[in-house]
Parts: sequence; C-alpha cells; structure tokens
Amino acid sequence: MTGTRTPFSPETAPCGRKTGGERLIDDDGYGLLIKDQYFDCGCRRIRHEYHDGSIHLTAVRHDGKPVREQDEPDHGS
Ligand SMILES: [Zn+2]
Repeated sequence: MTGTRTPFSPETAPCGRKTGGERLIDDDGYGLLIKDQYFDCGCRRIRHEYHDGSIHLTAVRHDGKPVREQDEPDHGS
C-alpha cells in the first residue's frame, strides 16, 4: 500500500500561512480512508474517514504544535 500523492494549490495551513503542498490519499481496504495534507511549510493536516462515517481530523503545525481544527479566533495565546 503506497498511497497516492498529488500536489494541491495553496490553501491555508494550520499555522495560518497560505501554502501549497502534497495531498496523500490512501485506503487500507477495510473502510479507512486517509486524506492527509503535507504543506510546504511543514504543517500537516491528517484526515481519517472511517467506514462508519466518522471523521477524525488532526492538524500539526510545522513547529510541532497540535492545532484544533476549528474556525475559532485565536485568543492571543
Ligand atoms: Zn506551517
């Protein structure tokens, strides 16, 4: 299982920069669909879609900090 990597055009990375990168799409054959984004700045956004329809999102900034994937304003932290 190798997955497919395709470049994507610039969009907002978890760190807030707008940058391009590569999208990795993979399928384990048991209903788990993996759609990961690897941004050029080093950020990652991991998306796992399970067979029951649930979606798990994980985002990690290029400095290694996990990010909540919600459109809430940054409260100056
Ligand atoms: Zn970044």
